[in-house]
Amino acid sequence: EKVKMDDIVSLCKRRGIIFPSSEIYNGFAGFYDYGPLGAELKKNVKDAWWKNFVTSREDVVGLDSSIIHNPTTWKSSGHLDGFSDPMVDCKETKLRYRADQLFASPIVLEENDETIGWVCVQEANDEDMVKDAKKMAKKMMKSTEHKEKKIQAFSFRDLTEVSEEEMAQIPSPGSGEPTLTMPRDFNLMFQTNVGAMSDASSVAYLRPETAQGIFINFKNALGTSRAKIPFGIAQIGKAFRNEITPRNFIFRSREFEQMEVEYFIPPGDDVWQPFHEKWMQESKEFLIDVGLREDLMGWDVHEGDGLAHYARACTDITFRFPFGTQELMGIAARGNFDLTQHSEGSGKALDYFDDQTKEKYIPHVIEPSLGVDRLILALICSAYAEDEVNGEKRNFLKFSPKIAPVKVAVLPLLKNKEELVSVARELYDELKKRWNVSWDATGAVGRRYRRQDEVGTPFCITIDFDTIEKDAGVTIRDRDTTEQIRLPMDEVIPYLSKQIDG
Ligand code: ATP
Repeated sequence: EKVKMDDIVSLCKRRGIIFPSSEIYNGFAGFYDYGPLGAELKKNVKDAWWKNFVTSREDVVGLDSSIIHNPTTWKSSGHLDGFSDPMVDCKETKLRYRADQLFASPIVLEENDETIGWVCVQEANDEDMVKDAKKMAKKMMKSTEHKEKKIQAFSFRDLTEVSEEEMAQIPSPGSGEPTLTMPRDFNLMFQTNVGAMSDASSVAYLRPETAQGIFINFKNALGTSRAKIPFGIAQIGKAFRNEITPRNFIFRSREFEQMEVEYFIPPGDDVWQPFHEKWMQESKEFLIDVGLREDLMGWDVHEGDGLAHYARACTDITFRFPFGTQELMGIAARGNFDLTQHSEGSGKALDYFDDQTKEKYIPHVIEPSLGVDRLILALICSAYAEDEVNGEKRNFLKFSPKIAPVKVAVLPLLKNKEELVSVARELYDELKKRWNVSWDATGAVGRRYRRQDEVGTPFCITIDFDTIEKDAGVTIRDRDTTEQIRLPMDEVIPYLSKQIDG
């Protein structure tokens, strides 16, 4: 069954995973705040990535660069001139849309090829939107005088592919009047001023990606880590883009986080491909390991126009979100474009000397780039599940124990029985030294289980009268199967550790 975005957004808000930012001031479009559970979830996802791609490897080092770089960085990287999206304005409502994300289809009568109108949608692969568009088309059909009424199949084109004459006929979404301008470039970088002066000389930019911080530190990292090519530099951090239409919750926001690696390799036409393949494979394995549903994943190979002019190849890993199949991450083979640009822009040699072959060269790179927030949304969609327990409907999140915000909940059977509570408290204190653990002593045990299920807590431990009177054991309940096992107290930590820490 299909997960609905509304259910996910409301669950995230209700249980303190993700809130709209500045909510007391009615929010702020394109910005989100992670609540108590969301902050844990996000930290776990970033830690898992860092462990997988940095600390457990010998060939990747970490970096944490500043968010605001010397603005020349963005001149050299090409972002100042080219980091833009095509935008159309609605002259009437003043609303703006990304031209490559607004799709229009002419409604053509099959009988005589006459265009009788246009319909517009924001996601051509969103079934619900297409359904609405079809309804609209039917209405328009009714108003024509033709007797044979049959329209040709819908074929959507994004607005960058539409001619000026056609554009004049396309209604803006909402108002229905044909009032859209032709697409024009809109630079996505946020500007700010650094220092007390606020003239052109003090203009700087919030980074739109973490990658350039890596390139400008190439020599520093190389010189201080004794790294030998092939090696990578990894960075996790905030990125900012003034997205024209932030939408789909945290999928596309204006402030987000990225996890990126620049993996430096020797030049050569036949060198990059195996490295590219390997990073694709390793990226996929990581995603599955943190709990992404493999059946919702796919590959999208960029070709021709979809490939940046300097890139050798770029393959996206896609994910089937409730609003359609979209890019989750990209794995690009970028040649040596970036280092060359920064070398020219700075006048500094950004090359590498191979002491075995005695060759000097500007390394090429493989760049896996993954959005933290986009991954979190995909993980929530993957984990979202419903079933029935004892004839009652249950909502739960099947998070991998590795990323679950709460690992264990400790539940004393009764909160007013001192003997139970003190034993439970002792266990809780012990577990808390290792993991984020929840204490829940109120309400019927079944209801407490349900509360934990809803936020994806993989294990619930109940302390009951048998614990203190009989076997000194506890009951551990598994979230997914709801099955319970009885374990002696001293086996609890080894058991959990195996499941949580792997
Ligand atoms: P899109 O075409 O969707 O705008 P992009 O191709 O510009 O994305 P990249 O520049 O390749 O994206 O960024 C790398 C990764 O960063 C993306 O795969 C995505 O996971 C994440 N990302 C990019 N833009 C955003 C955003 N506005 N909000 C959340 N995550 C983002």
